Amino acid sequence: MTTLFTKEDAEKIYHVKKWGNGYFTINDKGELTATPDSKSPPIVINEVIKEMKAQNITLPAVIRFHDILRERVKILNKKFRDIIEEANYEGRYMGVYPIKVNQMREVVEEIIEAGSKFDFGIEAGSKAELLTALAFNDNTNSLTILNGYKDEDYLRLGLMGTKLGKKIVIVIEKFSELPKLLKLSKEMGVTPLIGIRAKLSIQSQGRWAKSCGDKAKFGLTIAEILNAVQLLEDSHLKESIKLFHFHIGSQISDIRTFKDALNEGGRIYAKLIKMGVNLQYFDVGGGLGVDYDGSRSTNDSSTNYSISEYAADIVYGLKQICDLEGVPHPSIVTESGRAITAHHSCVITNIIDKISADQMVYETKKMAGEHILVDNMRDLINLLTSENYQEIYNDALQYREESLQAFKLGILSLVERAKIDTLFNQIMNSIVPIIANNDFIPEGLQSLKEKLSPQYLCNFSVFQSAADTWAIQQLLPIMPITRLNEKPTQNCSIADITCDSDGKIDRFISLDGIANTVPLHELKHDEEYLIGLFLTGAYQDVMGDMHNLFGRLNEVHIYSDAADPQGFYIEEFIQGNSASNVLATMQYNPEYMAQKMKKMVNKEISRGRILPREGVKLVNFYEECLKSYTYLKH
Ligand code: PLP
Repeated sequence: MTTLFTKEDAEKIYHVKKWGNGYFTINDKGELTATPDSKSPPIVINEVIKEMKAQNITLPAVIRFHDILRERVKILNKKFRDIIEEANYEGRYMGVYPIKVNQMREVVEEIIEAGSKFDFGIEAGSKAELLTALAFNDNTNSLTILNGYKDEDYLRLGLMGTKLGKKIVIVIEKFSELPKLLKLSKEMGVTPLIGIRAKLSIQSQGRWAKSCGDKAKFGLTIAEILNAVQLLEDSHLKESIKLFHFHIGSQISDIRTFKDALNEGGRIYAKLIKMGVNLQYFDVGGGLGVDYDGSRSTNDSSTNYSISEYAADIVYGLKQICDLEGVPHPSIVTESGRAITAHHSCVITNIIDKISADQMVYETKKMAGEHILVDNMRDLINLLTSENYQEIYNDALQYREESLQAFKLGILSLVERAKIDTLFNQIMNSIVPIIANNDFIPEGLQSLKEKLSPQYLCNFSVFQSAADTWAIQQLLPIMPITRLNEKPTQNCSIADITCDSDGKIDRFISLDGIANTVPLHELKHDEEYLIGLFLTGAYQDVMGDMHNLFGRLNEVHIYSDAADPQGFYIEEFIQGNSASNVLATMQYNPEYMAQKMKKMVNKEISRGRILPREGVKLVNFYEECLKSYTYLKH
């Protein structure tokens, strides 16, 4: 009798409600759906894939839900506005989006557009980002904040923006930037808006803890701030100091870290005001985290607070300090990037194979003259019971160890080694169901299940599409997009198609902490099996590297449409990299390569080793491969 597997059962495994933030849910048919826009019906992700296929768009692919971006901008702005009103706070909310978090033109344009009614601005951290901000942010009421180290060109570009009537705030990250700025503003006849980034002393936490404290890369110490104010006063530009800034790191998981930073930063702000510095903006930087694992905890991949709590703590906290110090309430600036972009994109990839330790077994029948170690291992299988499994496990390990030594000494044959390996795997696989029913699992045996679990080979590159899982052990929600009304029976890890053993994912979200495997379904010969990696829209979306020359993925931009029968339409398709594209980025000339190949083939034709007809086909095939998508065809 098959037991019914419901969407509630699937929810218990994949925790979609916990990390999905209302944007993702499982429907009654066992399909994963996206609800990017709360006013439109849910979009079945598999329907998006079907439509992509109908348009010859192949996997792996990135799906961007543009309505989610818009929704995130709206939520952040509205939360701050509502709390400011509720608290009778006298400043405004003037958030900016840090381009570095996702620089894709379509992403930046969507955020600027969605934020225009809130005067939501842009933060740039480099010259190229500033070039973008200048060209794209044409809302002169919004702020453009310039962070990062600056040379003369960077400063000149900023001052050019001021000349064009934009509210450009040049943040001094390093004291030495100030004399350069003074010289250029004089030369260009522009009075700049100046921000000062402070190096807070508080101890931040998580992976970006080094963003503050004495060893932080950016920001001025209190002594430097005071000297900067003096220098600007001497240059008759004290009035230009408009913004006070700090940034304590990204993905702050504990709300107390923000409170600490706010207390220190708030006091510095108030004291500066009392010194006659006419600050108008209080910029708390980025750090608003994303609950990737859905645990609502202080885990590195989670947060123990909501956007509302974050906004309330900043507004009420700052109000209290200002009121106690008797200084005006400044307008509040945040530079949230991750919280705006993470949810809007996901990577969909197909599983192409399964790699398991016991995939290929060798015939283990007893043969005359076999080494005693083979026999010993065979005996263990027959002896195994639920009482003696620990002893059998220990013996099996010992025989295997001895057999490896014996093989290295030339005592065991290849056939004997294959038999011992097969028998060993059979013993381990027989122990797993025995211990699964036990309340107590002896140490040493605890990770056995994971060691034996298969790997599902996925058509993607971890380094390109999920770089943070590799670089900083970021957890991402990973799950199938269909068959969610069927019990997943394979606990597996994920391997990618790069030829790098680091190209794998073996850390998954789980309510008991971090799991080394994710439950997926048994593969069927006649049915494609797709999984999604979710919340990939911040940083890793644009940080992917060229490892193995796989390059960028095919990408579709989806908009919700309540009037559409499927509830969505593909607004744009951006072709992923072809082999030629990625080769060209590495200084190769694909045309020259094709010509070289043709010459080699012609040489073989003239030698009579290849027939001319076959030669033409080979050259055409080489050229076709140069033009095609770098990922595996299926
Ligand atoms: N502002 C500055 C100065 C940053 O360095 C960063 C990134 O670390 C951000 C904003 C964006 O932070 P987050 O993505 O955590 O919001």
